[in-house]
Amino acid sequence: MIPPIASRFVAGETERDVLAHARALDAEGINSICNLLGEHYDSPEPAAEDREAYCSLIEGIGEAGLDASVSVKPSQLGLGVSEECFRANLERVVERAAEHGAFVWLDMEDHTTTDATLDAYTDHVDEYEDLGVCVQANLKRTPEDLHRLADHAGKVRLVKGAYDEPAEVAHREKSRVDEAYRECLDVMFAEFDGGIAVGSHDPTMVEYAKDLHDTHGTDFEIQMLMGVREDAQRDLAEQYEVHQYVPYGDRWFAYFYRRMLERRENLLFGLRALVGR
Ligand code: FAD
Repeated sequence: MIPPIASRFVAGETERDVLAHARALDAEGINSICNLLGEHYDSPEPAAEDREAYCSLIEGIGEAGLDASVSVKPSQLGLGVSEECFRANLERVVERAAEHGAFVWLDMEDHTTTDATLDAYTDHVDEYEDLGVCVQANLKRTPEDLHRLADHAGKVRLVKGAYDEPAEVAHREKSRVDEAYRECLDVMFAEFDGGIAVGSHDPTMVEYAKDLHDTHGTDFEIQMLMGVREDAQRDLAEQYEVHQYVPYGDRWFAYFYRRMLERRENLLFGLRALVGR
């Protein structure tokens, strides 16, 4: 069972827990993006297990009639085993999603996986449009990738990038990453017909996207994590499409620990919860 201190960031350990959370969000007009926690597998068995868990979740989402999607990590579906293993598992998940009309997101991991992830996405998305991929503004290659992605259907989530990447491939200064994020949004709003997802808690990036929407009229959605700026998520949902990324599963500790370390406020929240104040 997840301790109360972690339940701000993780919906629970089971499919039932994440569906219950998605149902509650649905009632508030917020869509869920469900992510089973797990990554970096180096053998096919856990990747196959998680593939089946996603297939089952997709069925559950379909049966519950929820406006929810799933988000999978390539290394969770076996990219670290082989590209074939990843492709075969992804294919099964996408087939199941097609049966239930569900949307599937591909998270983006470190830069060594970018080509394999984007190739898998572009190979599937023209046949199955309910597919999305994440790209990272900190990577220097991303504007080029966006020009290419503009020719495809599907959705693209822009994030700043969570991985510690080398300077040869990535902007490392926060101010430069912020500038790159805005440059990437400029490309998306100018070249995409829609399918733009702004994956950021940063109010300045959200405002920038709103202004671009007013200028270009292109549809967009805002995506934030469970437990982060939830008041803002509710406020934004009154006017815009908001999706909350909702992690679940029994491998919650490492994810929770990362959330705790990433901001002083989160750490203080954790300490207060521990001492009961
Ligand atoms: P930051 O640059 O961290 O912060 C900017 C401002 O945002 C802060 O000054 C503050 O005003 C506000 N803010 C940020 N965090 C908080 C907080 N906890 N509480 C209150 N205010 C806050 N990364 C990947 O590499 N691959 C992925 O597939 C991926 N998927 C993601 C999916 C979603 C839906 C989201 C939201 C993020 C995802 N990320 C992913 C993580 C992303 O790359 C960033 O590391 C993370 O979002 C932090 O950057 P930021 O834009 O939110 O704001």
